[in-house]
Amino acid sequence: MKKTVKDIAVAGKKVLVRCDLNVPQDKETGAITDDTRIRAALPTIQYLLEEGAAVILMSHLGRPKGGADMTFTLKPVADRLEELLAKDVLFLSVPEVVNDDVRKAAAELKAGDVMLLENVRFRPEETKNGAAFSKELADLGDLFVNDAFGTAHRAHSSTAGIADYLPAVSGFLIEKEVKFLGDAVENPERPFLAILGGAKVSDKIPVIENLLNKVDSLIIGGGMSYTFQKALGHEVGKSLLQEEMVPLAKELMAKAEAKGVKLLLPVDVKTIAEFSNDAEIIIVPVDQIPAEREGVDIGPETVKLFREEILKAKTIVWNGPMGVFEMSNFAGGTRGVAEAMVECDGVTIIGGGDSAAAVQQFGLDDKMTHISTGGGASLEFLEGKVLPGVAVLEDK
Ligand code: ADP
Ligand code: MG
Repeated sequence: MKKTVKDIAVAGKKVLVRCDLNVPQDKETGAITDDTRIRAALPTIQYLLEEGAAVILMSHLGRPKGGADMTFTLKPVADRLEELLAKDVLFLSVPEVVNDDVRKAAAELKAGDVMLLENVRFRPEETKNGAAFSKELADLGDLFVNDAFGTAHRAHSSTAGIADYLPAVSGFLIEKEVKFLGDAVENPERPFLAILGGAKVSDKIPVIENLLNKVDSLIIGGGMSYTFQKALGHEVGKSLLQEEMVPLAKELMAKAEAKGVKLLLPVDVKTIAEFSNDAEIIIVPVDQIPAEREGVDIGPETVKLFREEILKAKTIVWNGPMGVFEMSNFAGGTRGVAEAMVECDGVTIIGGGDSAAAVQQFGLDDKMTHISTGGGASLEFLEGKVLPGVAVLEDK
């Protein structure tokens, strides 16, 4: 267990908080198009302010190349934060992120004050976890709080290096992610089911390998299931296939069997002949995909089969859509799985950017136990990796 802001005295301290304020913006105007991440950051900030701390916020925004690029300024975020917190947010837009003006302003902060630093990726050392920049940040305050799960899988100055110089604890967002993802994987109520999908087997090998040691059953759907079908000797037509991964798929199936993990693959698929949402759909058994057609979603028999397994589970972790859910006519399988998860009375956890987007698209997001906010980070968590931005936090 990692210490959180509640396990440490913060009154009278200057607290550096790494948030994920990397919001989507309108390309033309720079206006924030979705402020979910800013809102999600508020509970930790408000807690610190109420407890009598001064707060210095850090975040990245986008991927500025080669240093300070003012198209990626955090100014719009500072403005929105002021609205949401209903108080002034001090923001000095300096390309160096930290300079003498910033140091002076930070030194003068009083309890209850909020300051936001400029985009930490304006400094090329940030993503290299440069020690000098980590120390420049650390010198502004007394305590480091990491609340940016989405970048916790990266060892950067503002996510990891800074903890070399300051006591470090987690904010409420990271606490929640670690609790739900960690408990699900390490301490699940059984039966424990993992549902994996998405486009590529190669992206998900470490997740499959890790979860095979933990789960009671494993569902594999989506684009990556065709590589497994091929491994079973089925022709997959024009469906997504990673030929070079076929031997590994065989190996993983053998491992599942050896470990007594029940493995479920699709039994029928929706196929199309040209890649368009309006293409004619033909549903076929999985071993009868015509050579000129491509599987874009799981079929109704598969949804039924997966649903039965889902309803039996007490813990479910889901990563990767069952089909090309971005196209409305091929979203049915993914929706079917999401609806079954809502029906299931166990713990339901979604990890992965596209899977979370799918569940949101169906309006079922508030019916799941937990939807991870970190795409890549949640995947690495499910791979059993230690996230650098979590590892640096003090243990309880
Ligand atoms: P996540 O972001 O949740 O980890 P992935 O990035 O691995 O998920 O996979 C998401 C992508 O997989 C989606 O863009 C979806 O269109 C694609 N996909 C799922 N099934 C298929 C399929 N049968 N054929 C092609 N693409 C697929
Ligand atoms: Mg993805």
